[in-house]
Amino acid sequence: MVTKHVIATEEHMDIEAIREAGEILRNGGLVAFPTETVYGLGGDALQKRSSEKIYAAKGRPSDNPLIVHICQWDALNKIAKRVPEAAKRLAKRFWPGPLTMILEKAEIVPPETTGGLDTVAVRMPAHKVALRLIEAAGGYIAAPSANTSGRPSPTLAEHVAEDLDGKIEMILDGGPTGIGLESTIVDLTGDMPVILRPGYITQEMLSQALETKVELDQTLLKEDSAQTPKAPGMKYRHYAPRGELTVVSGNEGSVIAAINGLIREKHQAGERVGIICTDETRICYEAECIASAGARGSEEEIARRLYAILRRFDKEQITTIYSEAFPQQGIGQAVMNRLLKAAGYRILETE
Ligand code: AMP
Ligand code: MG
Repeated sequence: MVTKHVIATEEHMDIEAIREAGEILRNGGLVAFPTETVYGLGGDALQKRSSEKIYAAKGRPSDNPLIVHICQWDALNKIAKRVPEAAKRLAKRFWPGPLTMILEKAEIVPPETTGGLDTVAVRMPAHKVALRLIEAAGGYIAAPSANTSGRPSPTLAEHVAEDLDGKIEMILDGGPTGIGLESTIVDLTGDMPVILRPGYITQEMLSQALETKVELDQTLLKEDSAQTPKAPGMKYRHYAPRGELTVVSGNEGSVIAAINGLIREKHQAGERVGIICTDETRICYEAECIASAGARGSEEEIARRLYAILRRFDKEQITTIYSEAFPQQGIGQAVMNRLLKAAGYRILETE
């Protein structure tokens, strides 16, 4: 299959291209498109064949459910059996935006879309191209991140092409995505709201909006084989670069000293080393590839750049990666969640 590449940014909305992409989706084809978080790989959420194609194109295990993207408030009542008060409140406060809610699913959503679960994940993205596309496609797009399963999520259309060129009908290129990490997922099917995946919308923001306690799925920040994460996808080793990644934590001086010691060792063993650091510390290292994720304390910038850095290391055939640990305020918690998963929870504490 030849994949068609089309520019469609929020500033220069190509209405004709979006109409064509909508047509592809209605006919059961696949289109990758920009959102405010990362690029999504879209198929019609209500056609089981489309969801099957998404799993095949990504090489994704079929028990890992897809998020249904909507563009109108009414659509929520169509795909969810019940819309609890908390869901209404969160939708009002954070949609369109980077928040996915888990609700009981209605009959019209095929089990292929939800990985066989009787719940459905739903979100309204804050991106004009995505919203127009959902509308053009008939209102319901199932879309996981547009990467091959196991690779870092795409934050540029070039990343999508690396993984999916020749496997899908069209890629809408909207330029770099704004947030750079996937949406926050909150489960509203239990007694208490539970965050299944951290993201831009934090625990604090959710609990403030709901005026109740919001829990964090305990499997999120550490590896605990005794427990299974509630979001099926979180159990897979996601976001992984090809090189072996270790996160090094501690005070700045001891982290720099430890990483430099490790670089020497790895160089003697003939490895190609990549370092993820900050603007402040980048001059402290010498290695094949040194990538600053941003200024220390600017978690949003780090979130935006993280996946592109991991992909760059793959291109440069880096075999060993060390990353400084980052502060966990705000979206920093999501950054560390993705980084630790990419590292297979390999963490070196230096103090
Ligand atoms: P992605 O689309 O690549 O961002 O991944 C979607 C994430 O949402 C995966 O981690 C899924 O396991 C999770 N998810 C989707 N639907 C559900 C659901 N009904 N219940 C729990 N987690 C879900
Ligand atoms: Mg994904």
